[in-house]
Amino acid sequence: MRLGVIEGDGIGHEIVPPTRLLVDEALAVVGAPKVEWVPLAMGHSAIEEFGAPLPEQTLTALDDVDGWIIGPHDSASYPQEHRRGTPPGGVVRKRFGLFANVRPARTFTGLRSVASQMDLVIVRENSEGLYADRNMFAGAGEFMPTPDVALSVGVITRAASERIAHTAFRLARGRRKHVTIVHKANVLPMTTGLFRDVCFEVAQGYPDVRVDDEHVDAMAAHLVRDPSKFDVVVTENLFGDILSDLAGELSGSLGLAASLNCSDTTAMAQAAHGAAPTIAGHNRANPSALFLSAAMLLEWLGDRRSDFLLTRASHRISAAVAGTFEAGTATADLGGLASTSTFTEHVLARIHRR
Ligand code: ATP
Ligand code: MG
Repeated sequence: MRLGVIEGDGIGHEIVPPTRLLVDEALAVVGAPKVEWVPLAMGHSAIEEFGAPLPEQTLTALDDVDGWIIGPHDSASYPQEHRRGTPPGGVVRKRFGLFANVRPARTFTGLRSVASQMDLVIVRENSEGLYADRNMFAGAGEFMPTPDVALSVGVITRAASERIAHTAFRLARGRRKHVTIVHKANVLPMTTGLFRDVCFEVAQGYPDVRVDDEHVDAMAAHLVRDPSKFDVVVTENLFGDILSDLAGELSGSLGLAASLNCSDTTAMAQAAHGAAPTIAGHNRANPSALFLSAAMLLEWLGDRRSDFLLTRASHRISAAVAGTFEAGTATADLGGLASTSTFTEHVLARIHRR
């Protein structure tokens, strides 16, 4: 199995190498074959070496891997000429058609959180809505007919709604078998109404999964009041962006927010947080979000290849992270005292325990 590995900027240099090590150890412990890692440049290092934050060499190399782990990019700190256009993360998502952004949010024993108990996954449609590719409208997704009037066009299609709904229902089958469709069909009946209707149609193919729906505003309130009610939440792009940050914060810290971006054929593990430049280089970053994202990547690869060793390695990683928290070891963002490297050592030690 070939996996790309991209450190990116800021704390990426501190959280990506231990993630790679953790994957190697977890695979070794369950007896799975070794990964062939393909290190690729993005961000400041890529500007120095190739003259662009996301060089064509990196994109081309990603065509030939089974998936990849990507660190954050700190586009705001690039020299002016490299700051224009879509940031690297967006370019990669579009080029590889990564239409699903799967973001779990859960509480852990041993950690403080706003929510008392939650274990849910937000499945965000990643290509449409008000964030749709602007080229779809000949560059006119947002436009100003006069200097005092601005318009924005949102797009929802049956095809994209169907594929994201299938992602959500398949995921629910391996969990508590409950999907909540989030929309705003009372105010946006055509766009988010189509999204809701298509999700309900897809639901008929999964009679074993309970399905219900919420308006996005009510959903925000329910998430704060009782997030334990939800299992899988499927929604369009903008709503998913907002709700997944809310859910992440309710679960404790941005440093816990894992995510997997996927298409039907490839997947990218990426922490939901950014490059955190203020703490970069101080051995203080929390690597958990990327550890858990890498576990999601292994699980996705395990499903796709029907390779239970990959699934087992994935569970080893999540259990080792949860066990480390439960034993009282955490980084500063979670109120703990552990450095990035100490936290990593604890997680690695647990990978080897039965
Ligand atoms: P971006 O625009 O790239 O999303 P951002 O402005 O949202 O970046 P982040 O880099 O995500 O900012 O950081 C937001 C805050 O959370 C900062 O205070 C940062 O130090 C903290 N933070 C983010 N990720 C981590 C982490 N893994 N460990 C510790 N603290 C983190
Ligand atoms: Mg951010």
